[in-house]
Amino acid sequence: MPAPVPTYDTSAPVLVTGATGYVAGWLVSRLLDEGFTVHAAVRDPSNAKKTGPLQALADAKPGTIKFFKADLLDPGSYTEAMQGCAVVFHTASPFTVTVADAQRDLVDPALNGTRNVLESANEVESVRRVVVTSSCAAIYGVIEDVAKASGGILTENDWNTSSSLTVTPYNYSKTLAERAAWEMAGAQNRWKFVVINPALVLGPGISPDQTSESFNYMKAFGNGALKDGAPPREIGMVDVRDVAEAHMRAGFVPEADGRHITFAEAQGFIYIADVLREKFGDAWPFPVVEAPSAGPKLPWRADNSKSQRDLGLVYHPVSQAITDMFEQLVEAGAIPRP
Ligand code: NAP
Repeated sequence: MPAPVPTYDTSAPVLVTGATGYVAGWLVSRLLDEGFTVHAAVRDPSNAKKTGPLQALADAKPGTIKFFKADLLDPGSYTEAMQGCAVVFHTASPFTVTVADAQRDLVDPALNGTRNVLESANEVESVRRVVVTSSCAAIYGVIEDVAKASGGILTENDWNTSSSLTVTPYNYSKTLAERAAWEMAGAQNRWKFVVINPALVLGPGISPDQTSESFNYMKAFGNGALKDGAPPREIGMVDVRDVAEAHMRAGFVPEADGRHITFAEAQGFIYIADVLREKFGDAWPFPVVEAPSAGPKLPWRADNSKSQRDLGLVYHPVSQAITDMFEQLVEAGAIPRP
């Protein structure tokens, strides 16, 4: 089968929700490469620390950026930013694992925010396609779920049924949000619905000032927090630049449809330390062993073939993402030098 080819029709603007986010930064960068007018919906357009790196990209690339103020919790708040847009990329959703109140801090913005964005898509006639950034967190909730999947391999047919407000609540928020999106997509026939389900995203940000949980994971490898042992777990990992490309293809490959598990490699967290030690040496407090595990270490297995076949995605090794991200954080002073 020939590789799918994206068609970039730049005659209409596109919307990116949560444009100041880590994943969104690279997506905006790719859209600007192709010459799109990007409507960047952000919580605070006057926060130059967050919008400045996006504006700098726009100044250097063929496309144009326009900032709009919007909040996931405010009904209708994305309607103005969506006017005239053909494609909506809904990336905004809190990605944090330590919250005081899972309903307020995770579920409400993820679920109500998705409903608000898609309600606007239903109102704004120019919208032809909506791409939602979901997660592998909407596919499984705890590692034991992997063995329960058919053949012990997660696919796009699997849904997380084990998370709740108290068990992996971030996964719960992503599951509720994606389910609501499917329901709303199925109730209309103007816009096509495409979902990207990334595993753990690694790699540098378009700037080093990032709040995504991905950065807390990487900092913990460099600041000594994990020196006694890496989490004894496996997980899927993917370069943030590949995740941005997955969104581009979800937005512009004509046949793209439905969910896409998006990851390059399944690795233990100790792999991150091994890659860092190989590149940066022994002076850093990288863990050399895994922390003790309560039970046997269960494998993380998932099928990423749909993303390669239907989107034409070519994955890059995560080792590069790991070293690029670490280097960026050290250069920025966010990880202390030994
Ligand atoms: P991030 O940098 O924290 O991005 C989250 C974005 O959501 C930020 O732009 C944030 O805005 C916005 N946001 C949060 N609450 C909001 C609210 N109430 N109103 C409006 N915007 C709000 O994290 P990320 O890693 O790039 O995550 C982006 C998407 O990828 C999320 O949907 C996440 O679930 C998904 N994902 C991430 C990973 C990963 O490993 N990083 C893996 C799978 C899926 P501010 O900039 O104003 O805070």
